[in-house]
Amino acid sequence: MTADVGLHAPTSADSTELEGRVAIVTGGASGMGLATVHALVRRGATVAVLDLSAPGRAELASMLDVPADRVQSLAVDVTNGEQVDRAFASLLAEHSRLDILVNAAGIAPATSFEDITDDEWCRVLAVNVNGTFLCCQRVLPAMRYGRWGRIVNFSSTAGKTISTVGGAHYTTAKHGVLGLTRHLATACGPDGVTVNAVCPGLIDTPMARGLLPDASLERATRSFPVPRVGLPWEVAELVAFLASDRAAYITGAAVDINGGDLIV
Ligand code: NAD
Repeated sequence: MTADVGLHAPTSADSTELEGRVAIVTGGASGMGLATVHALVRRGATVAVLDLSAPGRAELASMLDVPADRVQSLAVDVTNGEQVDRAFASLLAEHSRLDILVNAAGIAPATSFEDITDDEWCRVLAVNVNGTFLCCQRVLPAMRYGRWGRIVNFSSTAGKTISTVGGAHYTTAKHGVLGLTRHLATACGPDGVTVNAVCPGLIDTPMARGLLPDASLERATRSFPVPRVGLPWEVAELVAFLASDRAAYITGAAVDINGGDLIV
């Protein structure tokens, strides 16, 4: 796990808004997923991280400065249906409810179109789209049973236009996430379950830093109406809002958070 910048929002949230809620955050060991874990715990939720390598509970709690009994993590590859099944079954057995699912796990290779191998194409689709599908499908019965649920999927500006740094497979995958989000939203609304996507622009995470050298990241965002790189907590605050009761009338949305990148 990498030490992140910009994980913590400077303002305080209502610490009871999500009290009693159980949340799952895929890709929650890094970047925006990790910031989302923090934002949800600060509002009172208990949060389980599903990621390739699971940080220990104590490590996670101390990194986020939250109580250890409010976080847990499981090593899960979201593309593996059996691992996803096992994780959701064990979390449901432990908590007797699953209320919030945030699908933040993602990969974004920058490979040029000509050089994308069949395997890499399938892997990028598998992590970003299939993983989101698997987790959405597995969590729905518990949400429907509770007559309340919030699903927030990570798309990208790449899902609205094309990726500035990721390859064609990434652009395709993030468009796919939006299609899945909209389709599912139509099916779940009557059950009290909303399904939305967030579309971040360039956000300062290990993924973005891995794709663009520091100077390029600053340069790429200089022309934005808000001329800087976004911070993980800023996206996490949006996710936490979409996961709350206050967002009950928002579903099937693809919410931009990009410093105005798309209007210039
Ligand atoms: P990150 O690399 O910091 O975190 C992604 C996490 O996903 C990592 O912890 C990684 O281990 C996990 N992961 C990858 N493959 C997995 C798998 N098969 N199973 C389980 N976990 C897996 O990235 P981030 O920038 O915080 O990205 C979070 C989400 O936001 C991703 O879906 C990404 O595509 C999207 N996004 C990022 C940006 C950006 O600028 N950083 C912009 C738009 C969208």
